[in-house]
Amino acid sequence: MPHDLSHLDTALAAYPRATLLEGPTPIQKLSRLSRLPDMNGCNIYVKRDDLTGLGGGGNKLRKLEFLLGEALAEGADTLVTWGGFQSNHARLTAAVAAQQGLACELILTPSAVRSDEDFCHNGNVVLDALFGAMVHRLAPGAAPDVFAAQRVEKLRQQGKKPFVMPLGGSSPIGSLGYSACAAEILRQADALDVHFDRIIVPNGSAGTHSGLLAGVTLAHSSTQIAGYTVLANEDQAATTTLEKTRQVLQLLDPGATLADSSVSVNGSQRGDAYGAPTDAMLEAVRLLASHEGLLTDPVYGGKSFAGLLAAVRAGEYPAGSHLLFVMTGGLPGIFAYRSAFE
Ligand SMILES: *Cc1c(COP(=O)(O)O)cnc(C)c1O
Repeated sequence: MPHDLSHLDTALAAYPRATLLEGPTPIQKLSRLSRLPDMNGCNIYVKRDDLTGLGGGGNKLRKLEFLLGEALAEGADTLVTWGGFQSNHARLTAAVAAQQGLACELILTPSAVRSDEDFCHNGNVVLDALFGAMVHRLAPGAAPDVFAAQRVEKLRQQGKKPFVMPLGGSSPIGSLGYSACAAEILRQADALDVHFDRIIVPNGSAGTHSGLLAGVTLAHSSTQIAGYTVLANEDQAATTTLEKTRQVLQLLDPGATLADSSVSVNGSQRGDAYGAPTDAMLEAVRLLASHEGLLTDPVYGGKSFAGLLAAVRAGEYPAGSHLLFVMTGGLPGIFAYRSAFE
């Protein structure tokens, strides 16, 4: 029986949405990787959300479809957001602003663990400048949300209409982009005649995880969503994800309920800190590149794919399971982490 997605589709259609993707992103099976003996007979697939065209692509474009919808409905002329120096969300916000003819201000914070030349000046920051964004680099310890509030005040005094997006674009509205992605995945699963037992995602600002979980919940799908946190610790990330998922459900269907136990967040791959390389991440990035020709980033995709590999190798999934890993993009990060791969 195909999924009945009419309820989810109708709920999503109530929110203004800009089109930033070309259409559904492909789902592909990792055939060589799945055949390795230590994959224990699991069928590993990838959802190619790195294959979104604008600005180098990545998961933030799905959130930006709804955020931009909201911004344009409000008559905004300037997009404002913040993140780390290597923020993919900042880079894609700058690309969207360029495409739309809007101004863009990015507030970027230094990393506690990386201050090398490549990290500070290569990768995403090269692209932010190409897209024409105004970049504010904060000193260590400065609060980006406080700076953003001051900046917005100034822009308003100048007669501008700024639209502010939180870290990672993960407001409840932004997260709707991944509820729409859940519908897209379930349609593709029906067409492929595959039931995905589990969808595996990185969890940073939790919008990707929360949006997907809200989506499968409303579609009454038994597919589980498993997130690997790369930013907050496991307990914090689980709490944030539960709260955020409930906020997204509130937007889509105030009557919907969510059991606490449906949130699965694993902290085993985070390592010492956000953005700190781990051996398992390096192995995962290399394995995907050398066996499938696919590129994952060191901060999100590499760590969460390492978590998938560890679980499969530990026999956590029975042979014949169907696992879907969401490739979220972030390719420029590889160049910011050149020294880690040497
Ligand atoms: C932001 C980001 C994520 C994490 O998504 P959240 O919604 O913030 O949890 C994963 N991968 C990449 C490449 C990202 O840029």
